[in-house]
Amino acid sequence: MKDIYDVVVIGSGFGGAINACRLALAGRSVCILERGKRWGRKDFPRTTGQVARSFWNYKDLGLLDYRAFENIDVLQASGVGGGSLVYFNVHIRTPKGRVVLTIPAGTQPGKTFRLTGQGMPRFKADGFGDLYVKAKVVLPTGLTPEAREAAGKFFDLIDQPDPRARET
Ligand SMILES: Cc1cc2nc3c(=O)[nH]c(=O)nc-3n(C[C@H](O)[C@H](O)[C@H](O)COP(=O)(O)OP(=O)(O)OC[C@H]3O[C@@H](n4cnc5c(N)ncnc54)[C@H](O)[C@@H]3O)c2cc1C
Repeated sequence: MKDIYDVVVIGSGFGGAINACRLALAGRSVCILERGKRWGRKDFPRTTGQVARSFWNYKDLGLLDYRAFENIDVLQASGVGGGSLVYFNVHIRTPKGRVVLTIPAGTQPGKTFRLTGQGMPRFKADGFGDLYVKAKVVLPTGLTPEAREAAGKFFDLIDQPDPRARET
């Protein structure tokens, strides 16, 4: 690191990275300060249990920074790349190769997604059949006291009918 820069940018998200890039292209010396770590392809949480252990603090440098305010809760990313890090989706290997399937928020266990033309080759015919993907929702285990408290706050905020209540 140098002692003096023309510009110091705090945060490497979309805003910081683009500004730093433009300023560097214009010939300025630029320093980007980022509080989070660099996340490689294999570092992202793969299960809900791992997600529960991926919350931000200055010791563990987790990916997800959850902040609760008076009237709004904010979930933001922390790491090189900023908000782009939270878009981690599901990569599926199909007989035809790799595809990306975006799982919509609120997906219930057992929900089936159909990937047209991504299945097995047709028998004695041209083309490929469809591939069906069934969602298996895994609940987090081993929550820290902080994560348990955050989950409790979340359930206080949503209007979810009690699944044990009898229908009349
Ligand atoms: C699910 C989702 C999908 C989205 N999809 C799109 C899309 O398709 N197209 C689109 O244009 N936008 C999309 N957005 C919006 C976009 O991600 C945000 O607008 C953008 O990330 C904001 O950029 P930013 O640089 O302001 O902040 P961020 O990207 O949040 O970056 C902030 C960075 O600053 C770092 N930081 C914070 N405090 C400090 C500190 N004290 N010291 C050092 N570093 C610090 C953080 O670690 C982070 O890396 C989406 C957002 C979400 C949540």
